[in-house]
Amino acid sequence: MNAAPLSLSAPHRPRPAGEPLHVLWLQSGGCGGCSMSLLCADTPDLPATLRDLGLNLLWHPSLSLDSGRAVLNLLDDLVDGRVRLDVLCVEGALLRGPQGTGRFHMLAGTGLPMIDWVKRLSAVAAQVVAVGSCAAWGGISAGGDNPTEACGLQYEDDQVGGLLGEGFRSPGCAPQASVWPVINIAGCPTHPGWVLDTLGALAMDGFTPDDLDALGRPRFYADQLVHHGCARNEYYEFKASAERPSDQGCMMEHLGCKGTQAHADCNIRPWNGEGSCTRGGYACISCTEPGFQSPGHAFDQTPKLAGIPLGLPTDMPKAWFVALASLSKSATPKRVKHNATADHIVVPPAIRKTRLK
Ligand code: SF4
Ligand code: SF4
Repeated sequence: MNAAPLSLSAPHRPRPAGEPLHVLWLQSGGCGGCSMSLLCADTPDLPATLRDLGLNLLWHPSLSLDSGRAVLNLLDDLVDGRVRLDVLCVEGALLRGPQGTGRFHMLAGTGLPMIDWVKRLSAVAAQVVAVGSCAAWGGISAGGDNPTEACGLQYEDDQVGGLLGEGFRSPGCAPQASVWPVINIAGCPTHPGWVLDTLGALAMDGFTPDDLDALGRPRFYADQLVHHGCARNEYYEFKASAERPSDQGCMMEHLGCKGTQAHADCNIRPWNGEGSCTRGGYACISCTEPGFQSPGHAFDQTPKLAGIPLGLPTDMPKAWFVALASLSKSATPKRVKHNATADHIVVPPAIRKTRLK
């Protein structure tokens, strides 16, 4: 077993043109939900989809048959450069405890903590990808007093650093040279489309560092807000608010919804083809954002000051919000007002002559 001192200067092996992307997936401190979510990808044959995207999944702890010595040999081959590693995907937070030793999470059969393996493999991978908010920021695994000293690959909540450090960079999979931070596919769990689109874009050399936002999230989903496309938008417009979880109204004012602040396309690209948190009657808890796990209030309640929600929509000055809210509340149609606090349509839309023939 390879037990050489850790190094972040090992050579990267470039991917020959036309070769599939070699992807290794490791699971660390998390629930495995991002892998479970990947299994819900919109395809009847996930292995075929991966192949079609140009991905060669070298190993995944839940999806691959290999275990034991075969996997340990593969890890050695990757670290020593005998097998090329294009993308290292890490799911779950990196557990540095106790006292920075990482011994809360040993990789069985190696005598080494998982965090050491992640550092070794990150040094030889052309690209490092955090799958889920635990691997990106620490996430749920870093909640509360964080006794396991959990952190993300390159962030600890919104502080850059994490396991690999602020200065960590990878050369990327594309032939043209670029310099990449860790790609943070944040979400708890990740939408399967976010993972497949990111890996597929990397395989097609169709992704550049400019396609990441300031927190390293792929912009194709992080340049959206959950609020975009929410089925409750008419209620939001009139500040017609739900009071109980089963109500149809907007959940921002009373039930803790952060859809106007959460960067994600959950209501534009529905989950499993049709669902989202808000469509299912649950407030968005902004699981793609650093620190979402410890908001300082109950997830299903909206903290307020003088009756005004503290978490106002992204990009909206408070004075405007207050003025618009009071104007729209005074103009709320009876239909919207009554339906907002009911679990079904109690006042249907008026029937007007449309002049259509
Ligand atoms: S429930 Fe949330 S996401 Fe939907 S309209 Fe209201 S604030 Fe926006
Ligand atoms: S709606 Fe909000 S809480 Fe739900 S998955 Fe999307 S970002 Fe996460």
